[in-house]
Amino acid sequence: MKRIPLLDMKAQLKPIREDINKAIERVINSGSFILGKEVGKLEEEICKYTHAKYAIGVSNGTDAITLALEALGIGKGDRVIVPSFTYYATAGAITRIGAEPVFVDINPKTYCIDSKSVKACFEKAAKNKQRRIKAIIPVHLYGQSADMDKILKIAKNHNLKVIEDTAQSFGATYRYKKTGTMGDAGTVSFFPGKNLGACGDAGMVLTNNKKIADRLLKLRNQGAGLSDKYRHIHLGHNNRLDAIQASVLRVKLKFLDRWNKGRIKNAAYYNSALKDTGLMLPFVPKTNMHIYHQYVLKAKTRQARDRIVKHLNKKRVDSRVYYPIPLHLQPCFSYLGYKKGSLLESEIASQSTFAIPAYPELTVKELDIIICSIKEAL
Ligand SMILES: *Cc1c(COP(=O)(O)O)cnc(C)c1O
Repeated sequence: MKRIPLLDMKAQLKPIREDINKAIERVINSGSFILGKEVGKLEEEICKYTHAKYAIGVSNGTDAITLALEALGIGKGDRVIVPSFTYYATAGAITRIGAEPVFVDINPKTYCIDSKSVKACFEKAAKNKQRRIKAIIPVHLYGQSADMDKILKIAKNHNLKVIEDTAQSFGATYRYKKTGTMGDAGTVSFFPGKNLGACGDAGMVLTNNKKIADRLLKLRNQGAGLSDKYRHIHLGHNNRLDAIQASVLRVKLKFLDRWNKGRIKNAAYYNSALKDTGLMLPFVPKTNMHIYHQYVLKAKTRQARDRIVKHLNKKRVDSRVYYPIPLHLQPCFSYLGYKKGSLLESEIASQSTFAIPAYPELTVKELDIIICSIKEAL
């Protein structure tokens, strides 16, 4: 038996390889490689898919967050709330613009930002007379939405800008709305390993606000005016999306819902097979459609988790711990002064969860091997 990877990129590309080759060839023949018609078409198609009013193609998902923060007027010295249990990039983007992350905890069932923890951090900020918090970045982790009704309400009360980190949940919904379209801006990553991935780095910012969209269009391209390319209105950057990546994404976007359905089907298969194992299965609130960017299980203890991961490896099944160190305990953020125990649910999740393969091309035989191996380990 060959190894079962966490994600099988080659299997995904195989049935669409000819379409991708044709799309890339079309771009090469056009001689237009940066932004241009191909990126414009992708942006239109993403607007149609998400019902966002504006979509702005950018260099990657991390830059998408940085640009969204800048476009919303967040900058040096500002504070931005972000869950501790997420990929580094979410908080890294905050520091990149000279702002400071304020880490909050997660809901232990959904692994997404916990509104109670957000409220608590406002009480603490008021008591310590800390600088004002300007924005919040809920992360739609693993393929499902954060509790946006609660987040938007808190944001309204405290006058916060909301940026939804939709890197892992492009195509998921919350109350039938696409993730990334409910806040002031939503940021998407098309890193190859995401549910919709390019053949390289790529990203997008979604927004329903024309002013923000106009600013983003300039910021991504050196801050230059749209018709006057050497008149620089903002302090922008080179965060442009290239046409070859856009052309690949246009082919793959057509398959995204089908692929996500395949992931949902695999998750349902796992759920019924693993329900009596004592492992905590993914929890999906009624408001959410989860698209299983990762299918994540939680063991009772770190030892149990590590034992399962080790046994899966022995059985030639790839699994992964997302994320082994919560951000508030990362060496690079030690200057913020968080201690072990300050965000308990994030720490527990980092010690006891693991992801198993859920990609749509998995066969039933492979799913059974994975299930069997987990049960053996238990
Ligand atoms: C992947 C990811 C990013 C960063 O996206 P890149 O395109 O790799 O820059 C940001 N946030 C989260 C939650 C991610 O998973």
